[in-house]
Amino acid sequence: MSLTNSASPAFADVPTAVPFRRAFSVVYLEDAAASHPRAQRILAKLPDAEIIRCRDYREVFHRRNQSPVLQKNAQALILAVSDRPRVYEGAPVCQDFGNRRFYYTSDVMNCIFDCEYCYLQGMYPSGNIVVFVNSEDTFTALDKLLSEDPVSSAEAGEPLYVSISYDTDLLALEPLLGFVSEWISYAESRPALTLELRTKSASAATLRALPVSDHVILALTLSPDEVIRAVEHRTPSLSARLAFASEALSLGWNVRLCFDPIIAVHDAASVYNAMFDEVFSALPMERIRDASVGQFRISHEYLKEMRRRRPCAVTCYPYELTDGVYHYPPEIGDPLIRLAVDRLSEVMPRERIYL
Ligand code: SF4
Repeated sequence: MSLTNSASPAFADVPTAVPFRRAFSVVYLEDAAASHPRAQRILAKLPDAEIIRCRDYREVFHRRNQSPVLQKNAQALILAVSDRPRVYEGAPVCQDFGNRRFYYTSDVMNCIFDCEYCYLQGMYPSGNIVVFVNSEDTFTALDKLLSEDPVSSAEAGEPLYVSISYDTDLLALEPLLGFVSEWISYAESRPALTLELRTKSASAATLRALPVSDHVILALTLSPDEVIRAVEHRTPSLSARLAFASEALSLGWNVRLCFDPIIAVHDAASVYNAMFDEVFSALPMERIRDASVGQFRISHEYLKEMRRRRPCAVTCYPYELTDGVYHYPPEIGDPLIRLAVDRLSEVMPRERIYL
C-alpha cells in the first residue's frame, strides 16, 4: 500500500511549536468553567479569541453532523467542567508496560495534531478540543486510588501507573494549558505514582521550561519521515523528534521510544530499517529506558466511523478482524513487528522492548 498523499503540506516548514492564537480563534466557554482560575489563565493567553458562552460543553462537542476532519483546520477550544473524575482503568488492549495498576486520565479530549490513523476520529463526534479545567477532581480521584489497598496480592507494592496524555498530546498543548507542569508538581509528593507522558511534540523550549521529574516517563513516538509526511499531519519531522529526544536525555528525563503504530507503507521494511539506522546514529540508545512496538490496530466501531468520516489509505485498508479489533493480515503485520524487535534488540535487552 502506498500512503503518498499529494494533499500533504510541505512538512519541512512545519514549526514544532503550535501558534495557538491562530489555532483557537474561537473559544466556547461553559458557564460552570467561566470563573475557574485555569479557564481564566488559558483565556489570558488567547486575547484575540472570540469567546462564546454555552450552558453545557456537549451542546457544542456533541452537535450532530460535524466534520472532525474539516474542524481540524480551524479547531475551536471548549473550556468545561467535568461532572465526574476523568480517571479510567486501562483496557486490556492498552499497552501497560508490565504495570498491574494501570490507569489513564482524560482531562483533554482531542489533539492539535492530525494523524489519519488516530482513533480519536472514530471516538469523538468533533475535531474541536475540550479542556476540562477542574483537574483538582482528577487529582483527588487519584489520591483515593493511591490510598486504597491493592485489589489483589499481585498488585501489592506496585506503583500506580497513570498515562496522562492519552486522548490528546498534552505536551504539545503545554504552552497554552500548563497541565504538564501541574502534573509534575502533583506527582512530586507521591512516591507511589509514575506518570507516562506520550507525545509527538518536539518543542525543546517547552521541555526546558519544565522541571525534570523522576516520576515521569517521557514517551516519544517515532515514525519514518515517509509515514510522518503521509499520515501524521502537522507533527514534527523525525529529525526534529530525534533532536528533542536527545535534548530530553541531556536534561535527565526518563525517555521511552514508541514505534507504535507501525504502518504498512510501500516498501515498509526498507523504510523502517532506514528509520532505525537514523535513530541509532542520533541517540545514545543505552540511555533509553525502554521501547514499545506495535502495529496499527483499531476497534471495529472506531474504524467504521473513521471510514465514513475520513476515507483514506489507512482507514480503507482491507484489515482482518479478530475479536472486534482490526489489524493487518499476519503476513503483512508480523514481519514488520519482527523487524522492529530485531532492530531494537541490537541496542537494548529484549526485556526492555514491549509489544
Ligand atoms: S498525535 Fe496521537 S492523539 Fe494526536 S492526532 Fe496523532 S495519534 Fe491522535
